Amino acid sequence: MYEALLKNLQERGVTLVAVSKTHSIERILELYQRGQRDFGENRVQELLEKAPHLPADIRWHLIGHLQTNKVRYITPFIYMIHSVDSSRLLEEIEKQAAKIGRTIDCLLQFHIAEEETKYGLSEDEADELLQSASFKAMRHVRLCGVMGMATFTDDTEKVRAEFRHLRNIFERLKRVYFAEAPYFRECSMGMSSDWEIAVEEGSTMVRIGSLIFGPRSK
Ligand SMILES: *Cc1c(COP(=O)(O)O)cnc(C)c1O
Repeated sequence: MYEALLKNLQERGVTLVAVSKTHSIERILELYQRGQRDFGENRVQELLEKAPHLPADIRWHLIGHLQTNKVRYITPFIYMIHSVDSSRLLEEIEKQAAKIGRTIDCLLQFHIAEEETKYGLSEDEADELLQSASFKAMRHVRLCGVMGMATFTDDTEKVRAEFRHLRNIFERLKRVYFAEAPYFRECSMGMSSDWEIAVEEGSTMVRIGSLIFGPRSK
């Protein structure tokens, strides 16, 4: 499955983030040896337990909700934070990154699904953040695009509409705030069940777990 999936995505210029949450260091290493370098975890604690035991050239993506009090643990090594869902969180990332002299790539997470439980900004909140003096003064975070999760449903047209909405948000932000910023180019959308629709709707980065690693035990 992995090789065929990777080839398909590479041909379309889409980055594959292998979501390794709940899976062992051995399973991650196995995939690493087949060439995979981008891995995603959704919990800081689990990421901190695994990362020191794995090769240093792995690009770790934090894809789950991030609490401000945990930011400092990941700033020394994280490659990209997909789940920026408040200005307070972005301010904390800036502060911790400044301390260690790193610039951290981040995505703004948008709430595009119907479910109440999914985290993410509204467009108004994002505009407010991007227009704030506090954001304009930041030198240690680099906003590289957007992330979102579609509703978990069999209704593929609904999923498609939500991904299209996220892509439209991306296009608007690019035009209004990042026209001169070539690094603002990522649209992180699509998981095991809906990645094909996401890619058709303009995803540049898919986060895929169970399709590669098999079902999670918990
Ligand atoms: C777990 C998770 C994924 C991957 O889910 P699969 O259905 O196993 O592909 C993608 N994105 C986020 C934010 C996740 O938490």
